Amino acid sequence: MNISVIGAGQMGNGIAHVFAQSGHSVTLIDIAQAGLDKGMATIAKNLDRQVAKGSITEEQKAATLKNITTSTDLAAGVKSAELVVEAATENVDLKLKIFRDLDANAPANCILATNTSSISITRIAAVTKRPQQVIGMHFMNPVPVMKLVEVIRGYDTTDAVTKTVTDLSTAIGKVPVTVNDYAGFIANRILMPMINESIEALFQGVGGVAEIDAIMKLGMAHPMGPLQLADFIGLDTCLAILRVLHEGFGNPKYAPCPLLVQMVTAGKLGVKSGEGFYQYTAGSKELVVAPAFRK
Ligand code: NAD
Repeated sequence: MNISVIGAGQMGNGIAHVFAQSGHSVTLIDIAQAGLDKGMATIAKNLDRQVAKGSITEEQKAATLKNITTSTDLAAGVKSAELVVEAATENVDLKLKIFRDLDANAPANCILATNTSSISITRIAAVTKRPQQVIGMHFMNPVPVMKLVEVIRGYDTTDAVTKTVTDLSTAIGKVPVTVNDYAGFIANRILMPMINESIEALFQGVGGVAEIDAIMKLGMAHPMGPLQLADFIGLDTCLAILRVLHEGFGNPKYAPCPLLVQMVTAGKLGVKSGEGFYQYTAGSKELVVAPAFRK
């Protein structure tokens, strides 16, 4: 299948990786060449890790890389696509613009999927002339590792399009779970209030970063604490999702914690900026609490 992936960030490069590894022909598209270079370097590094673990061979790595081409030109990059998966920044206006462009440039029968974490599929579909072919295909981070694909049906999404996307997800080794289109869907409707509450507990001084994460890891058997997870997701992305939940349901329980807002304003976005609740240094796996939260 010809698949175009929009956005070469942490999710986009992972999505390109898994499709290419299953033999699909992938065009990875970003606005800047630097983003594409970084995305391709990440894919190569993750494939190296798979080779080192013995889960793929050097030949499979080479074949996967060969299946991916890159482009900074969206119109040209989707010209022969049968499926587009959009994984650009979590911003409503940006996604609406991208979907208008996709509708104008992708072949008429092409399915337009979005990896949005929270934005209404129906709202995105409404700016296209093919709302029945618009669907949510929500991969989890890190994409090559995580099994779930949350498939979200918009108001008009057809059974046939849903089946194509769920069958494809299964064929690339993922487990699709289909849900309906309300703000945050299922995954983030449940995850983000938990992350927000953890930040609120930190904000109120109930516990420190290490204490909050230790309690959730040891007490609830979570593989990582909510504050570390927020750093991994990206604090900007967490904030954007909470705002979508807050606006979508009009319920104050989803209001983002002021500390989260302030950290994003200060450019502390988690792993991708090098600092969030923890500090991240290249090559080090040790968790070091960020200076602002040290006692
Ligand atoms: P990111 O910031 O790592 O990457 C976003 C990429 O989109 C960047 O490379 C940026 O240059 C590119 N971009 C911006 N505007 C563009 C445009 N007009 N055309 C092409 N590319 C453009 O973000 P991310 O974490 O990869 O998130 C991407 C999407 O995936 C968001 O919708 C997010 O909500 C969703 N998502 C994120 C996670 C997560 O854990 N981070 C999990 C599931 C879904």
